[in-house]
Amino acid sequence: MSRKTRIDLSDMSRRDGEPIGHVDLQDLMPLPAPLDDPARERPWTPLNPQARARYECILDDTCAVSVPKPATKEEETELVRQFLSGLDKLFTRENNWTFLQPLLLSMEHCARCQTCADACHIYEASGRNEIYRPTYRSEIMRRLYFKCVKHGGMISAWQHGDVDVNWPMVARLIELAYRCNLCRRCAQTCPIGVDNGLIAHELRKLFSQEMGIAAKEIHDTGSMLQLKVGSSTGMSAEVVKDNIQFIDEETSERTGITVETPWDVEGAEVLLIHNAGEILAWPENPGAFALILNAAGISWTLSSELAGYDSINYGLWYDDAQFARVAIKHAEAAKKLKVGKIVLGECGHAHKALSVIADRVLTGELNIPRESSMTLLRDIVASGRLKLDPSRNDFPVTLHDPCNMVRLMGVVEPQREIIRAICPKFREMEPHGVDNYCCGGGSGFAIMSGHNFPDWRFHVSGRKKLEQVLNAFGDCLDPSIPKYLCAPCSNCKGQFRDMLAYYDLWEKNRILYGGLVELIVNAMSEVKPGFIEWEWH
Ligand code: SF4
Ligand code: SF4
Repeated sequence: MSRKTRIDLSDMSRRDGEPIGHVDLQDLMPLPAPLDDPARERPWTPLNPQARARYECILDDTCAVSVPKPATKEEETELVRQFLSGLDKLFTRENNWTFLQPLLLSMEHCARCQTCADACHIYEASGRNEIYRPTYRSEIMRRLYFKCVKHGGMISAWQHGDVDVNWPMVARLIELAYRCNLCRRCAQTCPIGVDNGLIAHELRKLFSQEMGIAAKEIHDTGSMLQLKVGSSTGMSAEVVKDNIQFIDEETSERTGITVETPWDVEGAEVLLIHNAGEILAWPENPGAFALILNAAGISWTLSSELAGYDSINYGLWYDDAQFARVAIKHAEAAKKLKVGKIVLGECGHAHKALSVIADRVLTGELNIPRESSMTLLRDIVASGRLKLDPSRNDFPVTLHDPCNMVRLMGVVEPQREIIRAICPKFREMEPHGVDNYCCGGGSGFAIMSGHNFPDWRFHVSGRKKLEQVLNAFGDCLDPSIPKYLCAPCSNCKGQFRDMLAYYDLWEKNRILYGGLVELIVNAMSEVKPGFIEWEWH
């Protein structure tokens, strides 16, 4: 039974200790075949009572951050004080050198036209659940800004609306900041440039930088681990070198071409930085990169410096200080090797972190040229340096656009030029390019698996993308036809791996996911046929 009720902004401050919103399966946006069959709808795992007793789970039916309940009234008061102090800092030039200007614009203006709501996949897929409306979160923030930062008083409260500032409101806002993929599809459609995604980001930043609260997967086992051992996967330089050696051997055997990855080559033209998750989860991806770059005669290297072999920078999603620390490590690795440029492997958030946002951090000698692997690969394919046989990719292929790389950087065509050249059965998702939808794993969700949060990301945040994938392959869902969902981003691949498995779309409908370089190697004439093995992993 649906528990959809009218939700008000004032519900955020309710002190009854209960969730203010619910997600019921019958309210969700319907999916096309084969997931229009109720028998294939997976049930939602309820949050267990221990989690509810221990953590602040008072927003909806899941929990992403696991904020412990304060033990005393004093502790609650102190947390609210920290929140208000952080809120003030978000609006000062000295403390918010990154995003003050667009944040102010987003606070001062909103025409309340709700164009952004129609653009948001989470809001639409949830069945238009009020707490996921992009402006629900933003309107709370706006009221806080006018009340607690500008100290507008009663006339301002009457003009802009009031909000009751207490611990339940702050606790719910922490969770609500993690119900947005930071995909900025809403910002793209807003007629006056308000950025609801940025507001969610700035809230996460406040919670991390001022209160020490962040999702543990992106902070403790993300940024912190990376800065300590060199990679958020936990791989040290010795371990990553061992793994790459193994990958070289595997790739050589599989392709019939000897592959050797160069390490720490001083003066190389290209320092390639992979998302290190590829090395562990999808080794065929770094293997394919090595084969292509060697075959094309590129002067390239990997780096064994701390963080130099892992392009991950989770700070992008929650904390400017952690972001800057990791970005500087990346640039220092490149500077030490005196390379011509850094090329980012197939990882969307790493693209945006190091190419765009790091521009505000990397100055002087650290401002080393950075390039997307999409353009480098396009140039290699277009140059004719590889002999390519498109008939080897004679199966349906569709392409996912990672938000960070495509909408937020404008890298739209290079990957398409490659795919059009080597995949005769390529079909676009609709919409695509800068109008794409997030995979649902963006902003850290793909690696966040606490409690029943995966249920939320498969049923709600990933639902719109799932609809797109099923529509793209709607004419060939039969399991006798293998299909390839190309996702040139490690984070998106993680979301697709988990979501396709959750809905059994590999076993029952033969939808495989993978990267772009695998398709290139699969089409190379001098490689043994069958680089793509059509196996689930
Ligand atoms: S589209 Fe922009 S102006 Fe319209 S409601 Fe959304 S944020 Fe406000
Ligand atoms: S950034 Fe994306 S997920 Fe977040 S509110 Fe906007 S459209 Fe929705």
